[in-house]
Amino acid sequence: MFKRAAVLVASCGALLSGCGPDAQNAPQAETEEIISNLVEAGFPADDIMVADGLVYVGRDAHVTLEASREMLQPAEVSAEQYRTTNLVGTSVTKICVNPTSQFNSYSRLSAGLDLAIENYNSMGLRLTFVRGPATDCTASISARTTSGVGGSAGFPKGGKPYGTINIGTGLQNYSVDVNEHVITHELGHTIGFRHSDYYDRSISCGSGGNEGEAGVGAIHIPGTPTTATRGGSVMNSCFSSNESGEWTSSDRTALDYLY
Ligand SMILES: [Zn+2]
Repeated sequence: MFKRAAVLVASCGALLSGCGPDAQNAPQAETEEIISNLVEAGFPADDIMVADGLVYVGRDAHVTLEASREMLQPAEVSAEQYRTTNLVGTSVTKICVNPTSQFNSYSRLSAGLDLAIENYNSMGLRLTFVRGPATDCTASISARTTSGVGGSAGFPKGGKPYGTINIGTGLQNYSVDVNEHVITHELGHTIGFRHSDYYDRSISCGSGGNEGEAGVGAIHIPGTPTTATRGGSVMNSCFSSNESGEWTSSDRTALDYLY
């Protein structure tokens, strides 16, 4: 109980939103169970955050109550580019990414989304991404805005990609390439990519520790390096203001292998 309480306090200290009584999208009991499950699953307490009533791990990956419960069940994970245990199933072929009107009102976010979709489609994967609204979607992802510079998303569940990416409107002050990078990164989480430097966030962030297995798994993708380098992957934890927005060679290897 003490540990759980400590996590909640730390989260509120780090992020002012989510502390007020009017900022809760999920009941407090649900939030507490998710955090409790994450701690039990071995996730480092300082990598669990609560914002706007939602719980995140690894700084930007949203965890639902259901997903946190799944984490407590035995999963095949290796000790050691990395993916979650869950991936997008073969019944999903066309993923429609639907921006909100708010999202569309930010020109660089909007342009970044087009380029991110192009990144995936240039790979000739079994998954095709389309900017919605569109028809015949076998899965949909809502592209929403949030405050700040950065983004958040979640991991696949039930064979479907995670249903939402949140992109910081502060990115309007950065290049379209940086927007492309962040949106490509968050879409990567929705289809099961962990951070390439998940085991040592200081590689891309300058500081920070190990995100751990996080209960969602951190399975090494064959053919990619087990060691991350700064600028070596779109899926590194942190990004810089001069990102190109393009895949690196190991990103391509990872995508080809998975999808
Ligand atoms: Zn991330």
